[in-house]
Amino acid sequence: MQLPTFKDIWQDSLQWQPNQEQLEKWEKLYQEILLINLQINLTRITEPNDFWEKHLWDSLAGVIGLDFLEYKDSLKVIDIGTGAGFPGLPINIIFPHWKLTLLDSTRKKIKVITLFLEALKLENSQTVIGRAEDIGHLPEHREKYNLGLIRAVGEPSVCAEYVLPFLKIGGIGVLYRGNWQKEEEINLNNVLKKLGGKLILVKPFQTPLTKSTRHFIYIQKITKTSDQFPRSVGIPKQNPL
Ligand code: SAH
Repeated sequence: MQLPTFKDIWQDSLQWQPNQEQLEKWEKLYQEILLINLQINLTRITEPNDFWEKHLWDSLAGVIGLDFLEYKDSLKVIDIGTGAGFPGLPINIIFPHWKLTLLDSTRKKIKVITLFLEALKLENSQTVIGRAEDIGHLPEHREKYNLGLIRAVGEPSVCAEYVLPFLKIGGIGVLYRGNWQKEEEINLNNVLKKLGGKLILVKPFQTPLTKSTRHFIYIQKITKTSDQFPRSVGIPKQNPL
């Protein structure tokens, strides 16, 4: 199985195209994942078009074409609950000068991602095993990031509580969502007030192959987050703000 390139779809949907080297690295990532997936369950999404849309296109759609990101800078980026490396790894292949931290609480997933970083020569990036609730309090990670990515980890208020402590003031958090309701937005706005953030943009998309609904929610840190956040392990999910 080989990934499609779909250069025209990249162009039409995101006004951007991958180059040959980037396509080759994505293909390598895909092959590595297929191989490891025979032994441990990294992802259910393995069919080429499905992988392309849900793992490549979706990961990139959250970060491409934003006028508030300085793409050329060596941004410090954290992917919280990265799983098999999404959305972080496909993004890092496009922006290898970014300093990406891939965080997950599952040791075996992080071990595999460490191998992927080597195979793909993503030398500016690192992995961390742990819970966002703990790692977000460590001085080497707290308020250190320009960009925080979070996909399929929990409801919006939980994601906000995980991501904001990691961001520098002015830093951006990207919540990858499916549907997006007005009530969720009202609730998120209330939660952001407690955490020192604000909602700056909601970007709706239709995915290019299956025409599913996606929303990327951009939040910005405007003031320091109180040391009480994130709360202890498990509390953000059990008792969302
Ligand atoms: N972001 C990936 C994986 C989503 S599955 C993707 O979209 O494909 C959710 C992942 O988050 C799992 O790998 C799980 O181990 C991790 N996770 C859940 N809660 C976490 C927490 N509190 N801190 C760190 N990782 C967490």
